[in-house]
Amino acid sequence: MNPPLPSGRPVPPAKYRGRIAPSPTGWLHAGHARTFTVAWKRAEDSGGTCILRMEDLDTDRRKPEYTAAVYEDLAWLGLRWAEGPDTGGPHAPYTQSERMDIYRRQWKALRDSGCIYPSPHSRKDVRGALSAPHEGANESVFPPRLRPPPGTGRKTPEPGSVNWRFRVPDGRVIRFTDGRCGETAYTAGQDFGDFVVWRKDGFPSYEFAVVVDDHLMEISEVVRGEDLLRSTARQLLLYEALGWRAPAWYHCELVCDAEGRRLAKRTEAQSLRGIRKAGMDPVALRVSLFAPKR
Ligand code: GLU
Repeated sequence: MNPPLPSGRPVPPAKYRGRIAPSPTGWLHAGHARTFTVAWKRAEDSGGTCILRMEDLDTDRRKPEYTAAVYEDLAWLGLRWAEGPDTGGPHAPYTQSERMDIYRRQWKALRDSGCIYPSPHSRKDVRGALSAPHEGANESVFPPRLRPPPGTGRKTPEPGSVNWRFRVPDGRVIRFTDGRCGETAYTAGQDFGDFVVWRKDGFPSYEFAVVVDDHLMEISEVVRGEDLLRSTARQLLLYEALGWRAPAWYHCELVCDAEGRRLAKRTEAQSLRGIRKAGMDPVALRVSLFAPKR
């Protein structure tokens, strides 16, 4: 029997710490508005704190104009944060690209424990590791036969220019309780394989950076889109490997367009700035986002 993974602990109200974690890789859309509003509201309702973290590790797609638009759009929506890249705070810096030393330290902890290994087999997994690997992105399970023997890489002083993967416990069922989706389970080695924690371009993967940050920033509940449920299972393995207690989870419903497709970050017409330019009021947007479905 595997020990139960430490997730879903109840959060004492005064200690609630939530986060809004946009990536400046495109225009924010109504789906982001919905998720970020839920994150902010859950912190407000708990008498807790909401922080802002800029997740800018996708060096190919991030752009300064997207970062500027994030601030404008969130202000237009009426969301506020107590700590963030603009306001500072006890866990600064709040921009991921400024936290590389912190990630490198935790990479070393994983390397020493032998649960990661250097992997020359990149393929499209690298693409998946660039930013949040959203559901439906055609994930392929990394074949276990490509794993090197245990102990490989333990003496490597720096990540270097190769991907580092987490050796998942094949067949293990990862269970957690989600605040909205309820009991959730994924099987390691089946629903996902050895995933990248450090990219060969020199940056930590989304999975790894987000776990390090959520832990060190003392986030008590992670609110994000339900396309990241599977990612949560991977992240629970990282929490365990690092010896950290996981936060509670709350995965929000996604917003789709009239054809039932998920909104795209690269379509300006669907973006919050597009909605704003079209003259919509933020309160009206919020009402429409949270209206009960007919
Ligand atoms: N930065 C991620 C995104 O924009 C959010 C990931 C998360 O909340 O864990 O998709």
